[in-house]
Amino acid sequence: MRTATAQDEGIEEHSLDPADWEAFRTLGHRVVDDLTTLLIGVRERPVWTPVPAESAATFQGPAPRAGMELEEMYREVQERILPYPLGNIHPRHWGWVMGTGTPVSVLADFIIAGMNTNCAGFASAATLVEEQALAWLAEAFGFPAGSSGLFVSSGSLANLTALAAARSAKAGYDVREEGVRGGAEQLVLYCSSEAHSSIQKAAELLGCGRSGIRSVPVREDFTIDLVALERAVVEDKAAGRRPFCVVGNAGTVNTGAVDDLHALADLARRYDLWFHVDGAFAALVALSPGDRHLVAGLERADSVVFCPHKWMYLTYDCSCVLVRDAALHRAAFALTPAYLAPNGRGLVPRGLSFSHLGVDLSRGFRALKVWMALKAHGLDGYGRMVAQNLDQARYLGALIAAERGLELMAPIALNVVCFRFRQEGLDPAALDALNAEILMRLQEEGLAAPSGTVVGGRFALRVAIVNHRTRRGDLRALVEGVRRWGGDLGRK
Ligand SMILES: *Cc1c(COP(=O)(O)O)cnc(C)c1O
Repeated sequence: MRTATAQDEGIEEHSLDPADWEAFRTLGHRVVDDLTTLLIGVRERPVWTPVPAESAATFQGPAPRAGMELEEMYREVQERILPYPLGNIHPRHWGWVMGTGTPVSVLADFIIAGMNTNCAGFASAATLVEEQALAWLAEAFGFPAGSSGLFVSSGSLANLTALAAARSAKAGYDVREEGVRGGAEQLVLYCSSEAHSSIQKAAELLGCGRSGIRSVPVREDFTIDLVALERAVVEDKAAGRRPFCVVGNAGTVNTGAVDDLHALADLARRYDLWFHVDGAFAALVALSPGDRHLVAGLERADSVVFCPHKWMYLTYDCSCVLVRDAALHRAAFALTPAYLAPNGRGLVPRGLSFSHLGVDLSRGFRALKVWMALKAHGLDGYGRMVAQNLDQARYLGALIAAERGLELMAPIALNVVCFRFRQEGLDPAALDALNAEILMRLQEEGLAAPSGTVVGGRFALRVAIVNHRTRRGDLRALVEGVRRWGGDLGRK
């Protein structure tokens, strides 16, 4: 594109700003128009549209040497990228735990990009916005005033941040000074066998070693077996190891099971462990006053992780960690080199507060998405949406129970429904293969996008509803699709 240049003392100087600002403005308006049209029409399109081979082939080749005109580049985006979405903005996308995004958060992202604030904690309105958004959420979760928190890119990074605070608070020695002691004094973390893979990743990164992770078995309802958990803690203590943290699931990714959080809080107190709750999606159930009992005990955690890009429907990426004891949170990360020292006034009057609470120094203004979303919809609006998704999961469960050819694979604790097509006379492996094929056909024809998992050793279709666009009719369409593909494929 043609960019701005200026003459200074006979020297030509450049920037990356457009030479023609009015053309930029016109294109900007068109982008907003086109995206609005796309969102209005999202229901009419297939959920997923795979990239055709000839289009995929155009993504080869070297980086361009010369720049191209903006209009022309945008045409490429329209032709080669926008038509082939993953589909998670569609009303019938229920795979993994994928958020839909809201129009308000799309606008917020635009504003965030325009301001391009660095949110390490400099003196700017952004810091106040982040502090206020965190305080609003802490209160909604029943955390005390003065607890601390941070918006980060992902639930995975949020879990790592919380477990780092747990490690430095409960190791029993100065882990930041010494590093992690191994051998007989190994640090041990407890979670259920249904815990998310990011917990293992975090524990490995923090030096616990895979041998320092106790993957405790679950009961029939996929919640942690408290007896087995306590036995493991006692054994590790007796052997001289250092149990430091127990992780509770508020919503396992597989089935949405919620561990007995009160019991875990009691156990953590008894054995002086840090109590962390991975509530990546389901902690947000606390936003619905009529449903918050489903995650009771969450408010007793030392730290909790949840993702506004999941069940607050915000655009990627936006996750959050809250830590009850602000001093312990800071103790795990705070570091002030000379070039970041506070000046008492100016841009850094009191130090870079957010850089002392996590891995990142430079950070984007994710908090604005949360702040704008809560302003636009209110806590009540969110409570209603969460309640609606829970309702829809129960509705889908009832549809499945009413179909002779379908069966539920796990209790519906929250918004996750695991089920499968069933056919007399097929052995278990053939039934698994049939259901895996049904899943592929549903995704490929663009009718719906559930994902798959294994529950109790058997393949299951899995629907996780964190979708504000879903209607009951969409769930009927899914059941119809499973029945149709099951009938067609099963006969062969
Ligand atoms: C999604 C999820 C995570 C990881 O969050 P990301 O944002 O995908 O990194 C962790 N725990 C649970 C229970 C989740 O559902």
